[in-house]
Amino acid sequence: MSDERAERIAEFIRPLRVKPGSKVRLDRDFDPRYRAGLKKAEGVELLRSGVSLLAEYQDRLAAADSYGVVMCLQALDAGGKDGTIRHVMSGVNPQGVRVSSFKVPSAEELDHDYLWRYAKRLPERGEIAIFNRSHYEEVLVVRVHPENLLRQKLPEHARGPDVWKRRYREINDWERYLTDNGFKVVKIFLNLSREEQRIRFLKRIDLPEKNWKFSAADVRERRRWDDYQLAFSAMLSATSTEWAPWYVVPADRKWFARICAAAVLAHTLIGIDPQYPDVGEEARKELLATRRELEREAPAGASADPYAERNKADRKEKKGKKGRG
Ligand code: AMP
Ligand code: MG
Repeated sequence: MSDERAERIAEFIRPLRVKPGSKVRLDRDFDPRYRAGLKKAEGVELLRSGVSLLAEYQDRLAAADSYGVVMCLQALDAGGKDGTIRHVMSGVNPQGVRVSSFKVPSAEELDHDYLWRYAKRLPERGEIAIFNRSHYEEVLVVRVHPENLLRQKLPEHARGPDVWKRRYREINDWERYLTDNGFKVVKIFLNLSREEQRIRFLKRIDLPEKNWKFSAADVRERRRWDDYQLAFSAMLSATSTEWAPWYVVPADRKWFARICAAAVLAHTLIGIDPQYPDVGEEARKELLATRRELEREAPAGASADPYAERNKADRKEKKGKKGRG
């Protein structure tokens, strides 16, 4: 990874970052149509190289087995969470990723503290966990629809008017604890405009193969647009921290949202800079002894080490091409 490329990625996502301690008003501070002056064709190329960068870093993350990453995706309905996950993670090894979608909590989940079900889905070291919706629903949908809070069976002292402020603090503390222990929390809010949501809903109604994605509840939620904007703004203001900042990703153009999400995740992995473990001198000596043994087993007429031979030929060819080009 060149420093220059790392710096370009950092530069690219800087305008999306919510400065810790700042007071956000979504409609004033973030434009859902922003695209950093990029054209779609350039964007598609960028995403392709971003996806292969992620694949390389994920391989190293798994090999190093020391850090884990949890990427939280929040959005309003039709914000593009599913498509973002599909595209951004398209190049990575499925063995190293676990995706969890959080729906209306079950009876069992409601019988625990509100972070319980999210804690159960945290990554192992070496893994990337993706939260499709996350613990932030606990200060979003639960705040906009207080009947959700009633269902949580909280004791009286935990239900007071300071409940949201307290939850912000608890979430910040929880994320700090995770970060301190090697689990980075990456937070992405896909910021969709009201008009683009209308268009995407219509598409889901017009195309039969999209009908399953649409429910009457989605329209009910849309009627609460302003309440959600306020809840998102308050949440972004209170929970963007130095250890786990929020990124507000412009979501009206799907291709641009995907590049941003890939860049934010890449930036985190570059920061971790996971390394392949060095097996050490003793183990290396043993490997070389084993290699000699395998070489002696070569059948008559076969090369002692076909892999090394092919590798050498490939390198020679590459060098030749470079010389000619
Ligand atoms: P979807 O992601 O479209 O499958 O919908 C999941 C639904 O679960 C959404 O309507 C969310 O608002 C709802 N949901 C997610 N988390 C919670 C929560 N903690 N409490 C209540 N509803 C939730
Ligand atoms: Mg839905």
